[in-house]
Amino acid sequence: FDMFVLAFVERFFRPTFRKDDFVLGKKLGEGSFGVVYRVTLANKPSSKEGDLVLKKATEYGAVEIWMNERVRRACANSCADFVYGFLERSTKKTPEYWLIWQFEGDATLADLLQSRDFPYNVETLILGEVQDLPKGLERENRIIQTIIRQLLFALDGLHSTGIVHRDIKPQNIIFSEGSRTFKIIDLGAATDLRVGINYIPKEFLLDPRYAAPEQYIMSTQTPSAPSAPVATALSPVLWQLNLPDRFDIYSTGLIFLQMAFPGLRTDNSLIQFNRQLKRCDYDLVAWRKTVEPRCGAELRRGFELLDLDGGIGWELLTSMVRYKARQRLSAKAALAHPYFDKEGTQKDGGFT
Ligand code: ADP
Ligand code: MG
Repeated sequence: FDMFVLAFVERFFRPTFRKDDFVLGKKLGEGSFGVVYRVTLANKPSSKEGDLVLKKATEYGAVEIWMNERVRRACANSCADFVYGFLERSTKKTPEYWLIWQFEGDATLADLLQSRDFPYNVETLILGEVQDLPKGLERENRIIQTIIRQLLFALDGLHSTGIVHRDIKPQNIIFSEGSRTFKIIDLGAATDLRVGINYIPKEFLLDPRYAAPEQYIMSTQTPSAPSAPVATALSPVLWQLNLPDRFDIYSTGLIFLQMAFPGLRTDNSLIQFNRQLKRCDYDLVAWRKTVEPRCGAELRRGFELLDLDGGIGWELLTSMVRYKARQRLSAKAALAHPYFDKEGTQKDGGFT
């Protein structure tokens, strides 16, 4: 129960906020389950554009607050820096949850992927300066390697805590200007299997573009959520049986693919790719055999990038995007893959 004691102590000593403490700024996003704004503290008007982010969420906000509190205590660096969450019911009839984070930066991975300059725009962000080196496949591969490593590192933190994100996609990955690394956001669809929170997946929350073929993780095998104490005892077993974390690994593999192939970066092309892959029974090697003989220069360049260093990138990619969850690498195992042996684009040169 020390987790609950800790939660209580933290609640008691950390500053608490309410609605009137915030001044709303620019709207950053609007989904079906909430609206996100940049905000400032009312008593700190000096801060320019707003150094905080507010999400006004519907009923799922409760789970998202819970997940963020847990992440802050267990694997703080994996996700955007969570400040506070509370239930706000003064004006509206339906309850509204307010969630506050530090503003991490302007760009999500989705924004950065849309730029013609990708992946060099990311290199500049990570290093803080423009590199005066010849552009080419090798260099692009090193940058992509760094992004994937940071993603896997953040995921390993979540998974080691017992949390599966279930909505990993470029839109939910923010570049943190403070730490110069990518962090995960949007824990609204996440599930904590160690405690049984949000155990039954809300299938409709999942983004079909990045979802693994087993998108109804465990709901078919385990029709009802065990009560919390039972789930705590059972979950390591369930985890071993179902490997729910591999769902996030599949999504990360698709992001890897989009980084290697500019032609797969739009929604439509990704949807088309998913159809092709399904037709190949989710076998990437088979997919490659069907597209490579008749592919254009851009696709060929992507394969060339993945084939560098004896095809070690392609090997990693095919170990992440596989039909059977059991055959996909875990985040920890992926981090130990030889693809990461050579140094990537890192400010300090080391692993972070
Ligand atoms: P949803 O997808 O439910 O609308 P997200 O949590 O994904 O909500 O946030 C929506 C958008 O708001 C993100 O894509 C990102 O652009 C921005 N955003 C969210 N959290 C932060 C943060 N901590 N720092 C900077 N921008 C953020
Ligand atoms: Mg989102």
